[in-house]
Amino acid sequence: MKVTVIGTGYVGLVTGVTLSTLGHKVICVGRDKIKVGKINQGIPPFYEPGLDSILKNALMKKKFRGSVHLQKSVKESDISIIAVGTPTVNSKIDLSQIREAAKQLGRALKDKKSYHLVIVKSTVVPMTTEKVIKPILEKYSKKPAGEFGLVMSPEFLREGAAIEDALKPDRIVIGQHDNKSGKTCSSLYKDLKTRIFFTNLSTAEMIKYTANSLLATLISFANEIARVSEKVEGVDVVDIWRGVHLDKRLSPIKAGRRIQPELLSYIFSGPGYGGSCFPKDTKALISFANGLGEETKLIKSGVAINKTQPERIIRLLKSALGGTIKNLKIAVLGLTFKPDTDDIRDSPAFVVIENLLKEGAKVFCHDPKAYKESVPKKISDLPIKLVKLPQEAVKNSDATIIITSWKEYVKLTPVFFKKHMKRPVVIDGRRIYDKSAFLSAGITYKGIGLCN
Ligand code: NAD
Repeated sequence: MKVTVIGTGYVGLVTGVTLSTLGHKVICVGRDKIKVGKINQGIPPFYEPGLDSILKNALMKKKFRGSVHLQKSVKESDISIIAVGTPTVNSKIDLSQIREAAKQLGRALKDKKSYHLVIVKSTVVPMTTEKVIKPILEKYSKKPAGEFGLVMSPEFLREGAAIEDALKPDRIVIGQHDNKSGKTCSSLYKDLKTRIFFTNLSTAEMIKYTANSLLATLISFANEIARVSEKVEGVDVVDIWRGVHLDKRLSPIKAGRRIQPELLSYIFSGPGYGGSCFPKDTKALISFANGLGEETKLIKSGVAINKTQPERIIRLLKSALGGTIKNLKIAVLGLTFKPDTDDIRDSPAFVVIENLLKEGAKVFCHDPKAYKESVPKKISDLPIKLVKLPQEAVKNSDATIIITSWKEYVKLTPVFFKKHMKRPVVIDGRRIYDKSAFLSAGITYKGIGLCN
């Protein structure tokens, strides 16, 4: 099938190249000529494992290309997928990119003779497809929905594993306006062995918010337990989670072997969740529910815990350094909200950095993927030093804070910290190190959920 994907961000580009791998002919439409030009040279605008090779392959097979011409691309396609951003602004979902994309799409559909399906993949609050997108499409195409197809099919890919998630999805949720729309959408995925779940537009929209809010709330629950654990002598939250995870309902035993579902990584304490989805989607759901007269107390509490969780790291740091960090050199390892991505949107690293700067510390940061050139101006303008190697950040420092569990940090040993640091103080925000090995090496080791 011929597909236009509107948006060349994490979701749009990954969707485009993976659909082309499945045999479809895809045009990915962006707004930025330079970015689209690079995509056409096989250079992805962001880091995602495996994306550059799959992109180059798709370009080589002439099954994929980038374009800045939305209407022209739609006219050449059977299906359009909306994958533009839906940020949360002032705690409410901002639909301006969605409205603009729907407007342009509607205009392109006006003169189209053949049936065209519109798939909404962006995360939008319930009733947006029915009450916002559909009327815009109808107005500008001058056609009633039904003459063109409409589905809401939320995206569940995880940054860092996006290619695998797109090629081997655990489910495809199709919220359909009508049966023909749903059937046409499912034919896009006919070669995938996966469960297709058909539902209506609003249920599909709500499934996405429910999934993200559940995972975000689990993380905040784990962080609430960490806060209590920090106050109980002899208690370490890592052991608490080990004991809890052994419940066979959480890690089932199959054929004598214990399965460790990935879900367990969300029931674990750390510096709080970040990224482009959990923070914005929980807030959007709260404001949406509020508009319906429902107070989402549990999700709200999770958001509140998350907001203050990075500050716990500063508290641990100050207690390790005798109360003040003014003029001390502090190394921050990891800027991204999780490993295997360069996405720093809403990363807890920046709350930590802001607090370090406020307290007068000299901040040296390292991240394997978020370099000076790639971080947004508002971050590169901060009075921090972004260095290329972990040892440059750590060298002569008074303390090191671990924010992201990048593999290269997990491998660091007590010897490394002792060799490079002025004072061997490690604040493990992710609990990636063996506490006893660090303590017995003479390191002042403090971590989230550890009473010491
Ligand atoms: P993003 O900000 O990385 O990308 C969105 C892109 O859309 C931007 O490059 C923007 O320039 C482009 N765009 C906006 N309007 C356009 C237009 N009229 N024509 C062409 N391009 C246009 O966002 P993302 O992370 O890819 O997320 C996209 C959507 O998918 C959001 O709703 C998000 O919540 C959802 N989602 C994201 C993830 C994720 O992990 N990033 C996972 C699941 C769902």
